[in-house]
Amino acid sequence: MTTLLIFIFGTLLGSFINALVYRLKNNFSFVFSRSHCPKCKSILAWYELIPIVSFLWQRGKCTKCQQKISWQYPLVEIVTGCLFVLIYQTKIITPQILPVSYVDVVHISGLFIFTVWLLIIFLYDFKYYLILDKITVPAMVLALVWQLVLDFSFGRLLNILLAGLVGGGFFLLQFLVSQGKWIGGGDIRLGVLMGLLLGWPQVLVALLLAYVIGAGVAIVMVLLKKKRWGEHIPFGTFLTIGTFIALLWGDIIIKWYLGQL
Ligand SMILES: [Zn+2]
Repeated sequence: MTTLLIFIFGTLLGSFINALVYRLKNNFSFVFSRSHCPKCKSILAWYELIPIVSFLWQRGKCTKCQQKISWQYPLVEIVTGCLFVLIYQTKIITPQILPVSYVDVVHISGLFIFTVWLLIIFLYDFKYYLILDKITVPAMVLALVWQLVLDFSFGRLLNILLAGLVGGGFFLLQFLVSQGKWIGGGDIRLGVLMGLLLGWPQVLVALLLAYVIGAGVAIVMVLLKKKRWGEHIPFGTFLTIGTFIALLWGDIIIKWYLGQL
């Protein structure tokens, strides 16, 4: 029952992510304007805003003008719901940590919040090949605060600043070597965010995973003739996937790598 509620909560945030990405791209105020059909501009009723259900019920079309609604909408809602369930399953009900102390509550809340944030970065980069500073920079500040609430010590502060430096520096180096051809400035900022969010050495896990997954997907795309070698792929999407995995299982992966499991 709780799992279902967590899933529904996730789909609602998935719906929010879809709307936010759309509005960021089209420069709408996302607090005051109500959701509308992009074609006929008719305002959506509350029953047209229910995640997944609305899409199925309307058979993927706007009820007024029959404009097709992208599969992106239910897909993002489902994925967000599933990731929320995953966090719940791995971090709460199979606990080494039951969220009882305030540190645990802050930890778990952070995982949910940053998952939403990563999904926004993922979706925006996937669709528009761009990582927005107005998304990454506030996340950096929040990540720093989150880390220090979890562990308010000079050692931890040094650790995450170092990790941010490594994450950002890694991309800055590529940026300088390629004179901005391989990657954009947005990747550098995302690298810093990854470091602040994950700390050292977890940031390395995320970077490595991003490259492995990215290479895997690129090979499949070339084989399927969807892309050619050297064609641009939105690398931020892989970075966010790597970051999410490292956020949940970074410690376990490192222990396993060092042979302590
Ligand atoms: Zn319409």
